[in-house]
Amino acid sequence: MPLTLYVDGPLWHRHLQQVLATHPAIVPVIKGNGYGFGVRRLAERAAWLGVDTVAVGMYGEVATVAATSGGPFEGSVLVLSPWRPFETRVAYESHVIHTVGRLEDLRAIARHGASVGRRPRVVLERLTSMRRHGFSARDLREAASMLDDVSVEGAAVHLPISVGSHLTEVTRLMTDIVAAGLPSDRVYVSHLTDAEMNTLRRSYPEYEFRPRIGTDLWLGDRGALRVGSTVLDVHPVERGDVFGYRNRTAPAAGTILVVSGGTSHGIGLEAPTGGATLKSRAARIAKGGLDAAGWVRSPYTIDGKLRLFAEPPHMQVSMLFLSHGARVPEVGDEVPVRVRFTTTSFDETVVGE
Ligand SMILES: *Cc1c(COP(=O)(O)O)cnc(C)c1O
Repeated sequence: MPLTLYVDGPLWHRHLQQVLATHPAIVPVIKGNGYGFGVRRLAERAAWLGVDTVAVGMYGEVATVAATSGGPFEGSVLVLSPWRPFETRVAYESHVIHTVGRLEDLRAIARHGASVGRRPRVVLERLTSMRRHGFSARDLREAASMLDDVSVEGAAVHLPISVGSHLTEVTRLMTDIVAAGLPSDRVYVSHLTDAEMNTLRRSYPEYEFRPRIGTDLWLGDRGALRVGSTVLDVHPVERGDVFGYRNRTAPAAGTILVVSGGTSHGIGLEAPTGGATLKSRAARIAKGGLDAAGWVRSPYTIDGKLRLFAEPPHMQVSMLFLSHGARVPEVGDEVPVRVRFTTTSFDETVVGE
């Protein structure tokens, strides 16, 4: 058995429906590694939820999601990465909504669309304090006078994650959006809290706000998710025994365990080191603990404790050191492993009924 994501289906589905009930205008975000679930599976869940629009990160992800190319989702697909003239994978099909954030791109997409007899659907993004993509206030006003050959679906703002309240900034951006006088009263927003959404809706009742949500939707109930790694081999060692790619020697009697999950799964990219703070790490080094010799705590839990990597993770497996006295698992046993879902590729995903 490989590195497996176990999903408690009923719990997960209940959470997805709760988020939808709280945000009926939600645009689920489906991108990258599909938050650990895979893009296709999330597109299926979005279809099951019955939303009319989902967002993907890049043009290359549209085909996996959209029904027109064999994907599970029948509705509209908003591409979050801004349209650029050099993007070659763009199809100006009616289910695709483009994000545009520069005047030259607005001109060019209108031209491209016209050349294939289409009127591209666009969302006009206003630059936020993120400074990632989008129009300045002035360019947004100018954009409003260049919309003859496109169909405007709304404005968009992408806010930074957790920097206190966004309300001052959003209010300023909304002032720009209102002033631009776009032929749409929809605004796509990212990373606002529920309270901020409610305040916005009260302040701008004539606008329709659509939150684009990924993490809090798909990963919002961690209790529905469990990750298991399989013990693939077990080697008792004495102090001084040699092991691994680097011919390290065992620091004490114990066990070398080989478990599934390596760099190709994203394991060890974010290995929690010995201690959260420099001080606690220094304290352990002073005590001559294993991490003083460069041993790093792994995300694998065995016999109730996070264990040390015996050496850096390999491509598909990791070697752990289990000190003498701990309960040694058997080949085939499954052990819990902590992962960051947005950087992990699982070998298998099991959704329990
Ligand atoms: C990825 C992304 C989101 C979703 O972010 P989460 O933190 O996963 O909810 C929303 N908006 C934009 C523009 C994004 O790129």
